[in-house]
Amino acid sequence: MQERLKKILEEARQELSGAASVKDTEDTRIKFLGKKGQLTEILRSMGSLSPEERKELGQAANQVRAEIEALLADTASRIKEKAREARFRAEAIDVTEPGKPAKLGTKHPITITIEEIARVFKSMGFSLAEGPEVETVFNNFDALNAGPYHPSRDLSDTFYINDEILLRTQTSPVQVRTLLAQKPPIRVFAPGRCFRCDTPDATHSPMFHQVEGLVVDEGITMADLKGVLDSFAKQMFGPETKTKFRPHHFPFTEPSAEMDVSCFKCGGKGCRVCKGSGWIEILGCGMVHPNVLKVGGVDTERYTGFAFGMGVERIAMLKYGIDDIRLLYENDVRFIEQFK
Ligand SMILES: [Zn+2]
Repeated sequence: MQERLKKILEEARQELSGAASVKDTEDTRIKFLGKKGQLTEILRSMGSLSPEERKELGQAANQVRAEIEALLADTASRIKEKAREARFRAEAIDVTEPGKPAKLGTKHPITITIEEIARVFKSMGFSLAEGPEVETVFNNFDALNAGPYHPSRDLSDTFYINDEILLRTQTSPVQVRTLLAQKPPIRVFAPGRCFRCDTPDATHSPMFHQVEGLVVDEGITMADLKGVLDSFAKQMFGPETKTKFRPHHFPFTEPSAEMDVSCFKCGGKGCRVCKGSGWIEILGCGMVHPNVLKVGGVDTERYTGFAFGMGVERIAMLKYGIDDIRLLYENDVRFIEQFK
């Protein structure tokens, strides 16, 4: 019997040393200490023994039971510790692994162009003026000396909301708002969105951007207009840039002109961008019509002024070689990312 007990303990130790899971230890416990376990069977068979033998064997069996129980507890804690280590290993962060780069956005070419234009005019002492995109017919047309039958009022060009409200077709109403709000001297630029009923194609969009400018002071002449806009062109397109003014007509300026700049792609020799002419039309301008100044209560005997307006899309497309205006509004990240 003593021999068998020794064997049982040895066997249990062997099994537990190889146990890898909670289930393994439980199996071992049942095999030796369970109701039909080997040790239990020995204790049960002691009935046939003499009291002395029974006492001796009982003590030995209890000792073996205690040892097996201690072994079971050790094994259980060893398995638990192993599982914990395995979990830590699985959860571990490899700090040497290269990170996933966070993608940074880029500025839209329209934003870049407006910021560049703004930088130039700010450097010349202009301040920022703003107006709403939903305007009054008065500010958009009447106050700008566009007669009641001016073609630009046509329903096919203008988004009317009702008889008195529209989506501004130009940034020029900001001139009116400025004249009504400020006394001369005035020197402002006003970037913003404009809207016209145009069917989208490569060069037209029903929504587009303009930058407006207005200067009103004593003694302002066409020479000031030319000086400011020539300086703008040189700062915007490079110091070699030449400018030329062609007579034109706008209701709110008199005289009016369009300004061309020498082609910044070919330097004036003629290329695809300038369509072979060496010149690119950039903006419209002129001396503010006295009727416009009068709306703002400006004394037209004392003050004169000039105004100008340019299309931002046109400048951005020329500068970056974009041949379709629609690309600017599709917001394809692969397109926008190219402008930094
Ligand atoms: Zn050219």
